Amino acid sequence: DQASVKGKTFIIATDTTFAPFEYRDASGEMVGIDMDLIHEIATREGFKVDIKAIGFDAALQAVQAKQADAVLSGMTITDERKKIFDFSDPYFQSGVQMAVKKDSDISGYKDLKGKTVVGKTGAEGLAYAKSISTKYGFTVKALDKADTMYSEVQTGNAAAVFDDYPVLAYGIAQGNGLKTVTPKVAGGSYGFAVLKGDNGDLMKAFNKGLSGMKADGTYDKIVDKYLKSSH
Ligand code: GLN
Repeated sequence: DQASVKGKTFIIATDTTFAPFEYRDASGEMVGIDMDLIHEIATREGFKVDIKAIGFDAALQAVQAKQADAVLSGMTITDERKKIFDFSDPYFQSGVQMAVKKDSDISGYKDLKGKTVVGKTGAEGLAYAKSISTKYGFTVKALDKADTMYSEVQTGNAAAVFDDYPVLAYGIAQGNGLKTVTPKVAGGSYGFAVLKGDNGDLMKAFNKGLSGMKADGTYDKIVDKYLKSSH
């Protein structure tokens, strides 16, 4: 309950860039839906957070090594991950999609034959790309950071990127020079994650804060702040 997290500081590991969920603003501060959510929940439940923007795979590793208390990084709740992590109530519905350069002739997976695509290390986008790579005859390259991943496509070194569709849509709306040509692949929802059996009080506080924010409209306000302005 609240009493057991009160006044404590928890280390929250996150991605370096996963806009609009986490990214650095012009002043270098980590902002985004995930960041606003955790800061608001921490305020409501009386705990403090120390945000470590170390990368997605690194965040998952840090929690497993007990160097961080939780991952908050647009992390998809999957059965596989549930073997290692405990997840909060879902807070955002998502899934994977492919994006190519705006002027690319690629109109579907079949056009990827012999080409290389990129995805993020440890992420669902990478896993999906790998799952169809043999069928369509393309190579998958894993990269740790969104910046490198996207620039590979922008410079033409990679034919496509596989990432979560809300993130692709945000980047495209911001003018990253990409487009989507294939349907969204329905996936799971995002959840806040702690190591299985660990940090139960923090998890309870997260769920309590989240449900309060959903009930009073704060959750919608945060999502709208980042998503309405980009569409
Ligand atoms: N939602 C994806 C996953 O959990 C990607 C998360 C991310 O890149 N930060 O694998």
